[in-house]
Amino acid sequence: MGKFKALFAILLSAVIIAGAFYWLRRYKPEIPEPPPEFNTQGRLQVYALDVGQGESMLIVTPGGKTVLIDAGNPQSGDTVVAALRKHKVSGIDLAVATHPHADHIGGMRSVIESFSIRNFLDSGRDFSSAEYERLLKAIKSKRISFINAKSGMTFDLDSGIKLEAFFPKGDNQWITRIRSGGSLENANSVVLRLTYGSFSMLFTGDAEFETEAAMLKSGFPINAQVIKIGHHGSRYATSGKFLDAVGPQMAIISCGMDNRYGHPSQSTLDRLKKSNIQIYRTDLNREISIFSDGRNYQVRQERGAETAAMWLGRIESVEFSTAMAKKSTRTAVEVD
Ligand SMILES: [Zn+2]
Ligand SMILES: [Zn+2]
Repeated sequence: MGKFKALFAILLSAVIIAGAFYWLRRYKPEIPEPPPEFNTQGRLQVYALDVGQGESMLIVTPGGKTVLIDAGNPQSGDTVVAALRKHKVSGIDLAVATHPHADHIGGMRSVIESFSIRNFLDSGRDFSSAEYERLLKAIKSKRISFINAKSGMTFDLDSGIKLEAFFPKGDNQWITRIRSGGSLENANSVVLRLTYGSFSMLFTGDAEFETEAAMLKSGFPINAQVIKIGHHGSRYATSGKFLDAVGPQMAIISCGMDNRYGHPSQSTLDRLKKSNIQIYRTDLNREISIFSDGRNYQVRQERGAETAAMWLGRIESVEFSTAMAKKSTRTAVEVD
């Protein structure tokens, strides 16, 4: 009998150990569920819309004023229009094209066709592309007031909520010297800061190091609690110096799951991590929402992601690297 007991004990232990191994192998850290709907009443709302490789940010004030900064690529027109309807937008007080690249202005014509737009803020740089020319024509035919951005410009949204332009400088003072392979359109992106009480957020378009350096030099109050990272998290944007000056707690990166540009780059993610900044990415978290009462803010993500995936950059495709290497020896139009 003693023998059987011992055998039984050995068998039982084996089953327990095997079970534990099985559980350990299957165990995966739990992905946090998105928190329940926030009450948006009386809150400033900022949404980073899920437009794949491109960018579109929506601001809705407690008083119902709306600002749309960029509208994604030409395929995302319907997505942006649907998102605006979902957020109960009926008209747009200010639409912004940070710069004329297709992944920022592509969906804008669909928005113009679907909503009445009061004002259009543009970087104001001459740029020839069929997409941009069609957009300018649509703005003209809808008689939308067209404003060229200039640093120092302020848009009062609700009382106590304002949007300030920090870049470009205006009066044809453009950035003209950029890295080889870079883009003058990106470098001259419209940069805006939204403030509501103690809440602040910086929107940087596709600005890279050169624009960041110019802004640091200008002495503008670029500090912000939240930053929309420049140029989809490119390795040529978000310098350590710039991050120190902005001092954000949180960063949003707008980029696509399948992008060939290497967005976001590992080096940018590493700089953000080193500065202890919490990140959200539209490729992993899809739509990202921020709500603020002018004192505190809450963030909601449409989808959770594992921490390891969040801090993992993307690698640019070989085709893209080769094209860029060729490009740096001649002048061409970049479209990202
Ligand atoms: Zn872009
Ligand atoms: Zn661009």
